Amino acid sequence: MAIDDMVDDGWEPTSDYDDQMDALARGLLEYDDTHCRHGTFVGNWAGPDYMCGYCEMGVTDEEFEEGKRLEAERNEKRKAARQRWEEINREVETTTDKDATWATAVAFLDSEEGQWLYR
Ligand SMILES: [Zn+2]
Repeated sequence: MAIDDMVDDGWEPTSDYDDQMDALARGLLEYDDTHCRHGTFVGNWAGPDYMCGYCEMGVTDEEFEEGKRLEAERNEKRKAARQRWEEINREVETTTDKDATWATAVAFLDSEEGQWLYR
């Protein structure tokens, strides 16, 4: 059923995920009506009543914010490690002193910073 038909018919929310996401995209439903405070799609009152893991576990707002902060911190460290690794790889390709550059690469991989390439 096209969303325009539903509007013309005085559309009421259905339990169908695609219908709800379509209605959300068209501004017929509010984001807060279909998502919990963690940003998980849970469906509106008509269903489908998806469960958010954070809500189900009773994670507090403070714990959730701390989790987001830690995740952002980890992502920053991964990004920094990847950027440094790309720099080292460019050096390996262009250097006239391969041994020294390989030593730099090995030292980086052994370092705390380098470990973030794999975390
Ligand atoms: Zn939630």
